[in-house]
Amino acid sequence: MSVRVRFAPSPTGPLHIGGVRTALYNYLFAKKHQGTFILRIEDTDQGRFVPGAEEYICESLAWLGIEPTEGPTYGGKFGPYKQSDRKEIYHQYAFELIEKGKAYYAFDTPEELDLARKSSENDSFKYGVHSRMSMKNSLTLSEGESKTFIDSGDYVIRMLIPTDQDIKINDEIRGEVSFNSNELDDKVILKPDGMPTYHLANIIDDHLMEITHVIRGEEWLSSTAHHVLLYQFFDWNAPSFAHLPLILKPTGKGKLSKRDGAEFGFPVFPLTWARDGEESFPGFREAGMLPNALLNFLALLGWSPGDDKEIMSIDEMVELFSLEKIVKSGARFDIEKANWFNQQYILAMDESLIVEAITNQAIANGYDLTKLPYCVTMMKARVNNLDQILKDAYYLFEKPHQYDNDTFEKKYKPENKSHFNQIANILPEIGDKEAYETCIKSYISDSGCKMGDIFPVLRIALTGILQGPDLFDTFSILGGSEAKERILKLIN
Ligand code: GLU
Repeated sequence: MSVRVRFAPSPTGPLHIGGVRTALYNYLFAKKHQGTFILRIEDTDQGRFVPGAEEYICESLAWLGIEPTEGPTYGGKFGPYKQSDRKEIYHQYAFELIEKGKAYYAFDTPEELDLARKSSENDSFKYGVHSRMSMKNSLTLSEGESKTFIDSGDYVIRMLIPTDQDIKINDEIRGEVSFNSNELDDKVILKPDGMPTYHLANIIDDHLMEITHVIRGEEWLSSTAHHVLLYQFFDWNAPSFAHLPLILKPTGKGKLSKRDGAEFGFPVFPLTWARDGEESFPGFREAGMLPNALLNFLALLGWSPGDDKEIMSIDEMVELFSLEKIVKSGARFDIEKANWFNQQYILAMDESLIVEAITNQAIANGYDLTKLPYCVTMMKARVNNLDQILKDAYYLFEKPHQYDNDTFEKKYKPENKSHFNQIANILPEIGDKEAYETCIKSYISDSGCKMGDIFPVLRIALTGILQGPDLFDTFSILGGSEAKERILKLIN
């Protein structure tokens, strides 16, 4: 049987980085086994539907190069791939469970449910084995009473959870996990609006789409008991399950949440999400992260090929990927590590592609594009994201915004003023780094002044700061007259 896996997000907002990792692991697993990677949009909860979220998901997967081969915009013979387009399919199955005695109608009003909850100890009310016979449903009402409710359409359908049954799940990552049915609630499977709930739609679709492995976040592990029961109710074979470890905050305490980006100062979304009148979130793409670096970083967030190998192309990851090597414990989101990956990928990247990647940013700033290739050569080993190149080296395109005055005061000796004037005047108008280096160093040795008195001041004059890439490269990119202007401005 060929492997078929799916990524099944709900379009309730931008796709969180944890969701991207789930998509990636599904993708790797599918490719590894020459299987099929499917995208299914789980939008049965119309109240939580967010316009643009589905497009965001597809755009993110496309940017990362981990696109499915079946899905709403990709086609495939198991469609439709969006649950709201499959409404009728679910109905038939919900009623089939009623026929089989595996589900029942319930008529409790929200107020009645609330009352039941409030009168239970510590709000521990569960609509299930112990309570259902004191509630308002087709098991407790007469046939006639039930029929009146059913005819008016005022009902939900609930699963009838069996009593005293051990439900065992063989999770590919966690091993055997078991639940006792008495602890499960009779989950609603069909809502009053005629829409199925997540549980029903999810397992029907996994069955009809012939999904062989369900690879998803740990938060769904507890629902799996219900899912396994539903498979039993229908007499269907359940797929294999693999529940991925949580992604933890950088502190290692608690799950990484969508607001942690703002709190810790880095993105937790692949692309920037900005919609009128809504909270916006920064994205890795816009922050200058390379897609392959992000994939590499995410792949190792919970999985390791077994040795110390870190830098891997997507093909290598496919080759090495296995569910057994996924860890059970949470994986700490370490932005330093993400930056390190990005740095490695930038270093290995073709310079012309880097130029291409930052051209729009340069245009937006009104920068001289002819300087970009030189700027990239000079800066690429000094940044860990592409965005930073023009931010750090802005002084190649505009005058320094400010000067490190403290250092200037320390390093600048007024008696050297004439040396700076002279240096400013002998600079060649154009030349490579060596041309400027020879010119300035010869002046220093001929005049007898000290490098330590000259170089730091020249640096501050040209760039505003003491630290930075090669000083003579900077001269070469700025050109003689611009450098002269900057030197004279500072010392005068
Ligand atoms: N719609 C669920 C989600 O948003 C899917 C969970 C699953 O993969 O079964 O994560």
